[in-house]
This record gives sequence, structure tokens and C-alpha cells, in this order.
Amino acid sequence: DRPPRFHRKVVHLNNGDSAPSSPFRVMQWNILAQALGEGLDSFVQCPLEALSWSHRKYLILEEILTYRPHILCLQEVDHYYDTFQPLLAGLGYSSSFCPKPWSPCLDVEGNNGPDGCALFFDQSRFQLLESANIRLSAMRIPTNQVAIVTILHCRRTETRVCVAVTHLKARSGWEWLRSTQGCDLLRQIQNLLQKHTDHSGSGIPLLICGDFNAIPTEEVYRHFITSPLSLDSAYKKLSQDGLTEPEYTTWKIRPTGECCTTLDYIWYSQDMLRVDAVLDMPTEEQIGPNRLPSFTYPSDHLSLVCDFSFKDKQ
Ligand code: NDP
Ligand code: CA
Repeated sequence: DRPPRFHRKVVHLNNGDSAPSSPFRVMQWNILAQALGEGLDSFVQCPLEALSWSHRKYLILEEILTYRPHILCLQEVDHYYDTFQPLLAGLGYSSSFCPKPWSPCLDVEGNNGPDGCALFFDQSRFQLLESANIRLSAMRIPTNQVAIVTILHCRRTETRVCVAVTHLKARSGWEWLRSTQGCDLLRQIQNLLQKHTDHSGSGIPLLICGDFNAIPTEEVYRHFITSPLSLDSAYKKLSQDGLTEPEYTTWKIRPTGECCTTLDYIWYSQDMLRVDAVLDMPTEEQIGPNRLPSFTYPSDHLSLVCDFSFKDKQ
């Protein structure tokens, strides 16, 4: 009696020339912390039973295993040690976890510990070169937001790739903080990359996945688009003109009203990586009148899934 899962199509992009040589798949997803969903979020149209961990954990795993990404970037993980780390390790994933220093989950009775970012990679495809858990700063003051920055070596193509996962400060009024946190993240990534390159700082393609809590017109988004790292946002490829972000990556109803916006992104180095395919978004009809989360889908944020391949060196 369970409603069917969303049927989402993998849209293959016509890249003209060659067929993708060795694409790898990346998933970005804010899975909704269990403590926040049950305790603080007030998803008034979602039945409590659909928010129970016993129901949600299978849907989260089902979503991950449906798409089987080589690289999996998650936010709001508050069941890392007891669920995702052991289960995904058994499926061949290596991983790291960076909890938020003052996670709001800790304010919820019966919580399962702090939520944070988690990064998983398929060990048969990638090998770990370096990983750093970082705390994002604003004007040198440490904030409550974190990131994981990892350098991986692709066993198939003998290429390196730097992957970062983050979750920026939520809510309106904090646009300046998100902007500062985004700049700090880019700075800390460049510092790490410089250790692995001969001063040029270039040569290692970059993937930055996150819940930026920022719509495309916000300052932090513009910082990323205009950064000298030549980043672009992969999900724009889903649009007709290839230049427009999706209409929504999160859709929920709180007592304050309905919220349907684009906050989640997969940034990539456009001169070194090519987007081969993008998973399309479920329609409004599929999502249903009560929006997300629901019995069908375990988070208020939708997963983003892309296939990338390394561009040939010039
Ligand atoms: P954020 O404002 O970034 O939000 C935290 C979480 O709340 C996010 O996961 C966010 O989800 C979710 N959220 C966003 N909007 C709403 C909403 N309208 N209703 C319910 N949930 C929402 O939090 P911070 O990291 O800044 O932490 C704030 C909390 O952390 C404080 O309430 C406090 O409990 C604690 N704290 C404690 C400190 C201490 O000294 N003890 C210091 C700092 C923080 P999404 O990203 O999906 O929108
Ligand atoms: Ca949330």
C-alpha cells in the first residue's frame, strides 16, 4: 500500500563530438535530519508516520541505491555512525563525516547526535588522496557551518578530482553570511589544491556540492559563477536554453506558508569536466498537493544527480 516512487528520467546531453569515455556519477542531497524533521521543521502537511525514522531510512537508501552514484554528497546527516557509514561501507563506499559544531538537532529531545555533511565515494572507482573537515569562517570568526573537501584519484582515468560538500546558513536575513561563507569555502579549497599542484593552482577539476540555502539571484551564487575557478552549475543543463536553474530543488509547506525554491547546486570546473547526463526533476503532479517530505519521498530537498566525464587535456 506504499505509493510509487517518483519516476525521474536521466537526460543525456548531446555533447556533439565523442561519446563519454568513463563517466562517473555524482549525487547531491540534503536528506533532512531525522531530529529536525520530527522536532523543529513543522512540515504541517506531512503525516508524522511518514517522518518516522523506520519509514524514512529505507526511502533514503532506496534513493541512493537507485542511482548508485560514485560520489555521494549529503547534508543534514544525523545517522552517520549507526546507519549510513556501516551500510554504505558494506556496498563498497568509503566515507567521511563532518558534524556541525552546534547542530540544532541537539536541541531536540531524543536526538541521535549532531547533523552534518557526509561525503561517500565508490572505492572501486576512486582512491582517497586527502580529506579535510573544515569550519567556515566569516571575518575570521568561525561559524556553525562546515564543509568536507576531499581530493580523489580516479582509478579508471588516472585523473585527480577535488570534491567538496557543504551546507550554508539557512533563512532570510543571512544572505551576507552565506556570501562570506561561500568565499571562505572557495579560499580554503584553493589552499588545499595548492598543496597538490605546482603553484599554478590549476589542473585539478573541482566539484562543489551543497545546500547553499541561496536562490540563484543571491550574492553567494554570483560569487561562484564569477569565480576565477571557472565554475558552472550543472543543473542549468536541464533547461531548454541550458542557462536556467530548475524551478525548485526543495518544496515544502510550513505554518508560515509554502516554499518552492532552488537552493541546492552541483558546481563543476567547466574547462575540465563535462556534464554528460542530468537526472530530471519530478513534476508538481508527482510531488503532490502536500509537497515534501511525504510517504513517497523522505526529504524536503530533492536529490540532484549528474554524470560527469573528464575533458581531454589540451
Ligand atoms: P540554520 O539557520 O542554518 O538552520 C539549521 C537547520 O534548520 C537547517 O538544517 C535548516 O534546513 C533548518 N531550517 C531552515 N529554516 C527553517 C525553518 N523555518 N523552520 C525550521 N527549520 C528550519 O542553523 P544554524 O546552524 O545557524 O544553527 C542554529 C541553531 O543552532 C540554534 O537554534 C541553536 O540551537 C544552535 N546553536 C547553538 C549555539 C550555542 O552556542 N549553543 C551556537 C549556534 C547555534 P535547510 O538548510 O534545509 O533550510
Ligand atoms: Ca532542512
